[in-house]
Amino acid sequence: MTEIACIADPEAAYVRAFRARVEARPPGALVLDRTFFFPAGGGQPSDRGILRNSEGGEWAITEVQHRGEAVIHRVTELRRPPRLVAVGDELEGSIDWELRYRHMRAHTAQHLTSSLIFSRTGTRTRRATIGAESSSIELEHPLADSGTWDAIRGSTADRVREDLTVGIRFVPRDEYEATPAARSGLAPLPRSVTRVRLIAIEGIDTVPCGGTHVRRTGEIGSIEFTPVPTTGPIDRVSFRLKEPGSGAPPS
Ligand SMILES: [Zn+2]
Repeated sequence: MTEIACIADPEAAYVRAFRARVEARPPGALVLDRTFFFPAGGGQPSDRGILRNSEGGEWAITEVQHRGEAVIHRVTELRRPPRLVAVGDELEGSIDWELRYRHMRAHTAQHLTSSLIFSRTGTRTRRATIGAESSSIELEHPLADSGTWDAIRGSTADRVREDLTVGIRFVPRDEYEATPAARSGLAPLPRSVTRVRLIAIEGIDTVPCGGTHVRRTGEIGSIEFTPVPTTGPIDRVSFRLKEPGSGAPPS
């Protein structure tokens, strides 16, 4: 079983280097006892990065995936150490921070936009796809017109400027299911979830999510939305991020 340490609290998403022990060595991959590399899921791509050992071995991480209760780090060997890595060895992980931070900003921008679409129109997000270059939000129902979208877009920029806090808390599943998030629920919670991880944007939105996010909306910076179609349904919005905003950690 791998502890996915990068989702424990808001600060954990900012950890860029860590040490962990090897639990298993499936072909072309490494399993650690804990990891700060984010495994792909919930529309957010996997992290990339480097694993090293004290004997000069170095491996590039090409993909991080869930496998039951473990997390598999698929690796390409960059430098071979004098002996093979063994179970119990300590490795040092370094996260590709530029890529991860883009995912964190984009993922938070998606929560913000999805929540403002829902609060104005009652339309939920069918699927969100987060990317370092561009992200998209597929809607349950089309928006009424481009004027509605313009108002939502303006409101999104305002909430970034207000630099709202983005918090994390865990609640028992029963407690969450008694009053589930109204804008969520299109995809049921996996049966294995016993504690629900809730991401809350101050005063605006609370939804279950397992991804990584920034600490404050100000860090998202400016969001460049792709123009919506002037004819036909507005059932998807896409965006790219420009430079990080206030409060961004040094790169
Ligand atoms: Zn999220």
